[in-house]
Amino acid sequence: MKFVFIGPPGAGKGTQAERICAENNIKQLSTGDILRHNVKIGSELGKVAKEYMTSGRLVPDNLIIDMIKEELNSPLYSNGFLLDGFPRTIPQAQAFDELLQKFNTKIDLVLLLDVSDEEIITRISGRRICKTCNRVFHVVFNPPPDPKECDKGICDIYQRDDDKEETVRHRLEVYHNQTKPLVEYYSSQSLVAHIDGIGSLDEVYDRIKSHFPSKV
Ligand code: AMP
Repeated sequence: MKFVFIGPPGAGKGTQAERICAENNIKQLSTGDILRHNVKIGSELGKVAKEYMTSGRLVPDNLIIDMIKEELNSPLYSNGFLLDGFPRTIPQAQAFDELLQKFNTKIDLVLLLDVSDEEIITRISGRRICKTCNRVFHVVFNPPPDPKECDKGICDIYQRDDDKEETVRHRLEVYHNQTKPLVEYYSSQSLVAHIDGIGSLDEVYDRIKSHFPSKV
């Protein structure tokens, strides 16, 4: 199965995506994660992307499309995938459609996770991440553990540069202007499932699951 996951930053796509992929034996592809890895290792792509990412802007389409083409060549995705954070613009969606056509395949479902801007700002500005195990916490709703309780060593908690409130507001603006038009793009292909993203992880997951095609 091939899923696209759309939603504002901080809507909970990453967490839900992990569960969907684990339960359906498909691979998650997060463009944000791949870009952050490139920034960390200091690759050419990482050096260019860093500037856009820290200011909450989108990395140029041509770089993202090349990155996706290369990534999807991996056999890891042959059983299906869930795209988290791609496509983010109409040109990306069009380039992706061409790629799918070349491989004679198509998207099965586009999940749209709806969360209001105010809720997003509360969620993201309190978000903290462990550098060691990559787990995501929230200063109020899910406080980071004692550093020694890390799954993979010692917890090293940090706030992403692009999670600061001012940057979050800008990222939301970018989402509404550049990514939201994808809802209409995919609705015209009858692919979109609207999901209310407010509630517990289980409640939201059950809503998502109710939209899965029967063979998943
Ligand atoms: P995310 O982790 O998905 O919120 O992505 C973090 C940042 O990476 C975004 O704010 C963008 O700067 C960049 N990014 C991730 N995916 C894309 C994409 N598909 N197109 C352009 N920029 C992206």
